[in-house]
Amino acid sequence: MRTTELLAPTLREVPAEAEVISHKLLLRAGFIRRETAGVYTYLPLAMRVLNKINQIIREEMDRQGGQELLMPIIQPAELWQESGRWDVYGPELFRLKDRHNREFALGPTHEEIITALVRSEVSSYKQLPLLLYQIQNKYRDERRPRFGLLRSREFIMKDLYSFDRDDEGLQISYQKMHEAYTRIFQRCGLRFRPVEADSGAIGGSDTHEFMVLADSGEAAVLFCEKEECDYAANVEKAAQVIVTAGHDEEPELLAEMSTPGAHTVEEVSSFLKVTPQKIIKTLLYETGLEVVAVLVRGDREVNEIKLANALGCLHLSLAGPDTVRSITGAQVGFAGPVKLNVKIVADLEVAAIVNAVAGANKDDTHLINVNPARDFNIDVVADVRMVRAGEPCPRCGEALIEAKGIEVGQIFKLGDKYSKALRAVYLDESGRSRSLIMGCYGIGVTRTMAAAIEQNNDRDGIIWPAAIAPFQVVVVPVSNKDETQVSTAEVVYNRLVAAGFEALLDDRSERAGVKFKDADLIGYPLRVTIGAKALANKQVEVRVRRTGEVLMIDQDELENRIGELLGGL
Ligand code: ATP
Ligand code: MG
Repeated sequence: MRTTELLAPTLREVPAEAEVISHKLLLRAGFIRRETAGVYTYLPLAMRVLNKINQIIREEMDRQGGQELLMPIIQPAELWQESGRWDVYGPELFRLKDRHNREFALGPTHEEIITALVRSEVSSYKQLPLLLYQIQNKYRDERRPRFGLLRSREFIMKDLYSFDRDDEGLQISYQKMHEAYTRIFQRCGLRFRPVEADSGAIGGSDTHEFMVLADSGEAAVLFCEKEECDYAANVEKAAQVIVTAGHDEEPELLAEMSTPGAHTVEEVSSFLKVTPQKIIKTLLYETGLEVVAVLVRGDREVNEIKLANALGCLHLSLAGPDTVRSITGAQVGFAGPVKLNVKIVADLEVAAIVNAVAGANKDDTHLINVNPARDFNIDVVADVRMVRAGEPCPRCGEALIEAKGIEVGQIFKLGDKYSKALRAVYLDESGRSRSLIMGCYGIGVTRTMAAAIEQNNDRDGIIWPAAIAPFQVVVVPVSNKDETQVSTAEVVYNRLVAAGFEALLDDRSERAGVKFKDADLIGYPLRVTIGAKALANKQVEVRVRRTGEVLMIDQDELENRIGELLGGL
């Protein structure tokens, strides 16, 4: 390919709409253009990257026995009504009507369609297991489409669905996909972690998210600092290890203390001269059905996902000041568990606390020497707090490290959730009808491309991992007026192409500086520069984008050396 034939419209200016680096660079380097909020055209450079990611995905899906198919984007409302999701999916579902006024959705995901397909095509255990996948546009009317391809409304996803006879079968399919995903992101050259994630209040099945580690990530993940330990979890999920040291004091006499104006943990802590660890923080939450009091230590944060799971509820919100006053009789900041007439959920640490400080349910007043069991009843004891970096790993006890991540894939054990709703069954060996056991497994292909940029960039532009770069090598003659340089560039380019490399010849009549800047911005892993000095020695200059390292290579060794260099990128 020659640059003069390539549609790669690079921009000098950073477009104002772009907040994150991948969005800025995708626009500036001529990979994408916006059509409307969260909807983009993928230009040729982007297509080359996407095709490479798709190729890796296909190879790894097929290696595990996956079969590719392609399902419709337009999905009839009836199927969604059958699964019960037409109503619960909410405004994220793009809905439309045809000329006969029949309702449809643009597929945000394909559990309904695939389950209906398998329901009619599979009847016997002999046809199982089945792993079916597609790579296709998905539609989600996200509340806040932003960050370019990281959160768009039309995006490309690979989704695979597994159908098994039972849970043991599902476990095998799930393991296969875990392995496939690990290989895919490794082959893409990304730094990532599979992390345990929350599967929601209803379900409780296994799920892992694959997170590309990048500071701009929206998700926080915790993983063990010990290399041999593979514990890693989304902060929503990370489990606490309870340290009981220091709880051997004798309970002392409960007493009221005046704490005027001390609302926050910091204020109470300095006023009463106690550490935040000795304070019980009491927060009131509304679940839609009831108000509950949640107790965590003063130095901790409530984890609302864990809390919702502990309560088995779908929605939670902090109670407002009016509710707080009507339930506790005091303004916000003085709630406490003693003589409080609502359900009490205590974090594991609070259940073990001795002689704590808590609000007295009275303005400007706290209680000291509060002891659970003696002074108040706990209805639910559970891990309901956020775990933070530095806390012990639940698997090995070493310290946890926190990092930011971008979710590029998720694998999920669905069990019989959809097969039951849609009555998708098979006949087992004894002729008994049983629900199919399912799993679903998604990779955001366009998000993966953006995540790769979030993780691999510098001041000058993108630094593609070689495996997913749009071109592996760009060949640049320094002066396009120098005939020897131009003809050598041509020869070098042809040799690289003949040797099977994906090379691009920058044949534009631009200054060398402009070509170098574009090459850096677009992020080709290697740049072969044909200039006078190198030519005099029958050499070419090779610059490694990632390190900036410049090597002089004998022209005879061109193909070998380029191959070696790419192998390490
Ligand atoms: P998120 O929590 O980021 O909204 P999700 O958990 O809803 O994502 P899944 O249903 O698990 O997403 O979809 C599988 C994959 O599809 C995700 O891991 C992600 O890579 C990709 N994806 C989901 N939503 C978007 C989006 N709006 N734009 C781009 N990619 C997306
Ligand atoms: Mg997800």
